Amino acid sequence: MTIGHWIGGRTTGTDPERSGPVFDPATGAETTRVAFADQEVVDAAVAAASEAARTWRRTSLARRSAVLFAFRELLHRHADELARIITAEHGKVVADAAGEVQRGLENVEYACGIPALLQGGFSENASTAVDVHSVRQPLGVVGVISPFNFPAMVPLWFVPGAIACGNAVVLKPSEKDPSAAMFLARLWQEAGLPDGVLTVLHGDKVAVDGLLDHPGVKAISFVGSTPVARYVYERGTARGKRVQALGGAKNHMVVLPDADLDLAADAAVSAGFGSAGERCMAVSAVVAVDPVGDELVARIAERMAGLRVGDGRRGCDMGPLVTAAHRDRVASYVAAGQRAGADLVVDGRDVAADGADAGFWLGPTLFDHVTTDMSIYTDEIFGPVLSVLRVPGYDAALEVLDANPYGNGTAIFTASGGAARAFSEEVEVGMVGVNVPIPVPVAHQSFGGWKDSLFGDAHAYGPDGIRFFTRTKVVTTRWPDPSQGGVDLGFPRNG
Ligand code: NAD
Repeated sequence: MTIGHWIGGRTTGTDPERSGPVFDPATGAETTRVAFADQEVVDAAVAAASEAARTWRRTSLARRSAVLFAFRELLHRHADELARIITAEHGKVVADAAGEVQRGLENVEYACGIPALLQGGFSENASTAVDVHSVRQPLGVVGVISPFNFPAMVPLWFVPGAIACGNAVVLKPSEKDPSAAMFLARLWQEAGLPDGVLTVLHGDKVAVDGLLDHPGVKAISFVGSTPVARYVYERGTARGKRVQALGGAKNHMVVLPDADLDLAADAAVSAGFGSAGERCMAVSAVVAVDPVGDELVARIAERMAGLRVGDGRRGCDMGPLVTAAHRDRVASYVAAGQRAGADLVVDGRDVAADGADAGFWLGPTLFDHVTTDMSIYTDEIFGPVLSVLRVPGYDAALEVLDANPYGNGTAIFTASGGAARAFSEEVEVGMVGVNVPIPVPVAHQSFGGWKDSLFGDAHAYGPDGIRFFTRTKVVTTRWPDPSQGGVDLGFPRNG
C-alpha cells in the first residue's frame, strides 16, 4: 500500500511514479510507502488550495472559529489514536507522543480565539471628519513544510493559525512519518473544514522546490535542519515569498555550583534522552561550572542506568531512532567522540533493547570532558548523546554559548535569582529556561530561536504566527460633506 496525497478533500496518487519507504523503527520493518509528488501534483495541489482560499477568506470569523472548536474536540477525542500513529512511524514512546499531541492541541485552542486575534484598530477623527481603520487579511495559499521529529505538533504549530486567519494551507510533512498529517487532515474534514482549505502533499525536495517556486504560494513556514532551512529561506524569499524557516539546534544547559544537583541531573537526563534526543529543544550539551562536574556526571550516569530502551508501545522510557541510516550516523559520532579524546562514560551502542533485533536501537550515551572543537560538540547529532563540558566560571559558560552558531533553546540551573536574571538578559538564544530544561513557549507566546536556528523575522505560532499569516490593510475614510469639496493637489495633510 502507498500513502497518497490529500487534495480537494480526498486521497489521490496512491500509484505514484516515485515513492519512499516508511518504517516502524521499533521493528525495522518497512510498513508502507509514501507517494513523492512531482511538479504536476504540486500544481494540482496549489490549484485546489487557491480555489478553496477564495471562498474560505470570506467565510465569517464565527464559522471559522466554529470549525476550530470542532477540530479541537475531535483532536482531543482521538489523541490516543494519533499518539500511536506517531509511535508506529517515528518510534518515540507513546507517552511522549501523547505529550506532542497535547502541545499541538494548545495551538488549536489559541486559534479558536481568532475573532479576538484578528481585531484591527480604529482611529475616529484621525483628521477632521476622516476615520482610519486597519484590518489583517489572509495571504492566500501558504505552505507548511515539517520535519520528522514532531509529525503532529509541528504541523499543528502552523495549520490552525493559518487556517483561522483565512488562508488555505498546503502541508508537506516529512516523508519519514507521513501518516499523522493524513490523520489530522481527515479530522479537519470531519470538523467541517471545506475541502481544499487543507492539502497534504507528500514528497521530497521536488515537492519542496515546487512549493518554493510556485507563484500561487504566498508564504512558507518551514521547520527542519539548518542547511535546508537556510536554503528554503533563500530560495523562497528570492521568489518574493514571506518565509519563516526554523532550523537545527545545539542546546546548552548551564549548571552553576549553587544548583540543586539532583534536579539538574534529572533535567539533563529527561531533556537529553527524551524522544531519543530527536527534539530541536533537546539538551545536547551540559556546561558544568566548576566544581560541580564530577558530582553532576556521576548523578547523570546513575539515572541513565535506570532507563529502559525499547519499543515505544511497551512502556519503555526511550524508543529507537527514526531510521537505520540515522542510527548509524549517530553511532558514528560516538566513535568520533572517542577518537577525539572525550571521556565515554556511558556507551549506548551496546544497549539491550526491549524490542525486535532489527529495530533502530541506540542507547543513551554520555561523554564527559568534551571540548568545543570536537564534532560531538560542533554538530547537531540529533540523537541520545549528551556531552558534558567543564568550565571554570559563569563568564566562561556564557562564552561557550556565545561562540556557538545555534541559538534555539538553553537553560540555566541555579538557586541564584541574580545569576538567572543576568543569564536571561545576556544570552544570545531565543528561548531560555530557568530551572526548566525544555523551555518550549506556551501557545499564546511564540516559538523561535536566534542565530542559525531561525531564518526570517517571524517566530512560530502565537502572536507572531497571526502576524505572519496575515497582511495589514489600512483604510482611510471620509464620507462626503459638500462643505469640504474643492480640488487640492497638495499632499494630504492632517488637520
Ligand atoms: P530535514 O531538514 O531533513 O527535513 C525537513 C523537511 O525538509 C522535510 O519535510 C524534508 O522532506 C524536507 N527536505 C529535506 N531535505 C531537503 C532538501 N535538500 N531540499 C528541500 N527540502 C528538503 O529535517 P528532519 O531530519 O526531518 O528534522 C530534524 C531537524 O529539524 C533537526 O535539525 C531539528 O533540530 C530540526 N527541528 C527544528 C525545530 C525548530 O523549531 N527549530 C523543530 C523541530 C525540528
